[in-house]
Amino acid sequence: MSRLYGKWRVEDFREVIRGLDEKTGMNGASLSICAVKAMGKNGNTLGSYRPRKDASWGYFSFSLMYFDDNKFDDLDAIDVIRHEYCHYLVDALGLNEVFHDQSVHGIAWKTACGLLNTDQSATYHGCFYPRATDDSFMNAYVSDDIQPVNILEQIDRWGLNLPSIKRRKRLEKSLIRKYTKLRVFKAGDSVFHDKLGYGKVLDTFPSDKKQLLYVEFEQGDVRIVQNRKVYKVINGDVKRPVSKAV
Ligand SMILES: [Zn+2]
Repeated sequence: MSRLYGKWRVEDFREVIRGLDEKTGMNGASLSICAVKAMGKNGNTLGSYRPRKDASWGYFSFSLMYFDDNKFDDLDAIDVIRHEYCHYLVDALGLNEVFHDQSVHGIAWKTACGLLNTDQSATYHGCFYPRATDDSFMNAYVSDDIQPVNILEQIDRWGLNLPSIKRRKRLEKSLIRKYTKLRVFKAGDSVFHDKLGYGKVLDTFPSDKKQLLYVEFEQGDVRIVQNRKVYKVINGDVKRPVSKAV
């Protein structure tokens, strides 16, 4: 598919939401999506998510004043959809209760944004992203820039200070400088621990000094271990780093 500048249709909104659902395991694409002529005072609202109430389902609305405008950048368009999707996540997962914060664009919503590579500001300020290319558009359209995430499980595991995708990347880069690539892990990596044996990394949590790994070991234990306690296993070989200093 080529870029959509000014030609967004309900099915495109749904397709983007479906891609996000695939990363979160949620079902936002089953909700109603309205494409409306204009929203808000002076038409300055780009989209909205109406939370579920009593017996009625939540639903998404998007303003064609923007989505039908061929100068409205496609990456901004996708960010608007993600912005509303994060409101949906907060509503569907009860994140306001989890974070003890009822504000609309507060820490609960920002955490969801951080995990879904979404701008964490409440208002649209235009030109936030570089102009969409076919590649960057397609990448965002199918959510290829987002890791699969189970927000509640992650909160349960790591607490409420989940790093955003941006921060995660920055931390991982500095960890690689500190430890080398062999000692910094990602989900799916095979690892070996001297006491616990072989295992598979299910999730990672970087900080500025170390990386915590959530590992499922072959003997059945699931443990949180530090990156410096395990070695990567590549093609069956345990890669113990060779010390540079002798
Ligand atoms: Zn909002």
